This record gives sequence, C-alpha cells and structure tokens, in this order.
Amino acid sequence: MSSLSAYKPYTHGVHPKAGAISKNSELFLDNVVSLRRDVRGVAVGEVLRLLEIALSTTDETLRREAMAHAVELSRSFRVRIPRRLSLLICRKCMTPYRFDVSRVRVRRGRAGLTVTVTCGSCGAVRRIPLKP
Ligand SMILES: [Zn+2]
Repeated sequence: MSSLSAYKPYTHGVHPKAGAISKNSELFLDNVVSLRRDVRGVAVGEVLRLLEIALSTTDETLRREAMAHAVELSRSFRVRIPRRLSLLICRKCMTPYRFDVSRVRVRRGRAGLTVTVTCGSCGAVRRIPLKP
C-alpha cells in the first residue's frame, strides 16, 4: 500500500524526477507529447521514402540497405508499412522479392485460394491466404 502511494504519475507541471516544471519547458507533458507526434510524422514520411527507393532501384545493395532501414524505423516508431507494400517484402531476409528469381504459385485448398511465394534470395516460403 505504501509503495502504491509513493508512485507519482507524470502529470502536468510535476515530473517524478525533475519536480515542478514550467509550461515552456520541454519536459512539460503537452510539449513531450507533441514533440513525439512530430517525430513520428517525420518517421512516416521517411519510411515511405525508403520503401520507394528500395522498390524502384535495381542496385542490390541499395535495395537491401534501404529496406532494412525502413523496417527498423517502422518498428521503433510504430509506423505500419502499408499491406500492399509489405506483401512485396520477404519476412525472413527483409529484402523486396525479385520476381525474376522468386516463385509464385496459386493453390486451391479447402480454405480457398492460397498464394505461395518462395523467396529467390533466401528460399523462405510464404503462404498468403486469399479471402474468397
Ligand atoms: Zn528472403
């Protein structure tokens, strides 16, 4: 019970470690939240830009690096990669599928159609169920 009462949540004007803070301080809650929102907005743009580079270039190293950076950014800033773009990325080696060396097959099973993609660079198999 005493440990509960000792817990001080971060509220407006009082920081658990910094104590009283003014409205203009960068530690003030509203300012922290809006800064985080700004940074996330920049991250969204950057992730989309990197994905565009990775999917449009033919340079193998650039593709790999841009895609790895985009995935890293999207994870640390909780930015979702759009589904139609994430379908083009191998989950295992995190590089865009090269459709000249990858294999794409459509199977009809009890659950409906399934698209099977075999990555040309690492050999990972991905099964994508299609909604009927
Ligand atoms: Zn792969």
